[in-house]
Amino acid sequence: MLFAEPPRSEYDLRFRAFGFPVRVHPYFWLLAVLLGVGFGRGESVDLADLVIWIAVVFVSILVHELGHAFAQRHFGGRPWITLHAMGGLAACDDCDRAPRSQILIALAGPAAGFASALLAVVALRITGHVVGFRFGSPDSFGSAIEGLRIFGGTLYWEATGNPRMNFLLRQFFWVNIGWGLINLLPIYPLDGGQVSREVLTLKNPRRGIVLSLQVSMSAAAIMAGVGLVAWKSLFTALLFGSLAYSSYQALKAYQSRSW
Ligand SMILES: [Zn+2]
Repeated sequence: MLFAEPPRSEYDLRFRAFGFPVRVHPYFWLLAVLLGVGFGRGESVDLADLVIWIAVVFVSILVHELGHAFAQRHFGGRPWITLHAMGGLAACDDCDRAPRSQILIALAGPAAGFASALLAVVALRITGHVVGFRFGSPDSFGSAIEGLRIFGGTLYWEATGNPRMNFLLRQFFWVNIGWGLINLLPIYPLDGGQVSREVLTLKNPRRGIVLSLQVSMSAAAIMAGVGLVAWKSLFTALLFGSLAYSSYQALKAYQSRSW
C-alpha cells in the first residue's frame, strides 16, 4: 500500500531487516488491535488470540513491504520501510520511476504475501497435513478440516491439535491471500491502483492518469456496494466509499490543473 508517511515520533520502533531501515509508528499497533477486536463478530477472540493476530499482521505487512523494498533495491533504489496506521509503505528518494519498474515494484508486495502463504502450505504438507484448494463451499468438508473461501473456491487444510495454531493459520492465510488480492484491485492508493496508472499511462500517455482515476473511482464504488450488500460489512463499505471519494477528488483536482 502507499499512503503518506507519518511524522517521526518518540514511540517509534526502529530496526533493520535485510539491510532496509524499518520504522513502526505507534498507530500501527492501534490499527492492528482495532482490526483484531473488530473481526471478533463470529468467533470469540481472547487476549492470546489478539496477540497472535497482531503478530500475524505485523509479520505479514512487513513481508509485503519487504517485497516492494527488494524490488526497489533490484532497480537501484535504497528504500526504507514504514509501518503506520493505514498499513505500510516502502519508499525511496532514488527509486527507478520508469513505468515498467514501478509496475514490478507494486506487484512485488502482494507477490511476497502469496509466496509466504505458499510456504505455509508447503510446511503443512511436509509435516503430513492434508492441504489443498478446490472449488466448492466449506460445508462439504469434515470438522477436522479448516477452510478459507477465496473467490468461489476454498483453500482447505487439516486442523492441527492446537486451537491457537489453527487460529494463527486461518488469520495468516486470510491476511496474506485475502488482503493481497484486495490490494491488487485497481484502486488508489492500493498496489493495483499504481499498476493500473502505469499500465494506462503506457498505453495512453495523454489520458492515462485520468482513466486510472476513473477506473479507481468506479472499482472502489463497486467494492463499497459489495461490502455493504454481500459481505454486510460497514467497515468495508466505509473504507472503499472513502477511497472512491478521494479518487473523485483527485480526478477533479487533476482536471482543473490540466485546464
Ligand atoms: Zn503494497
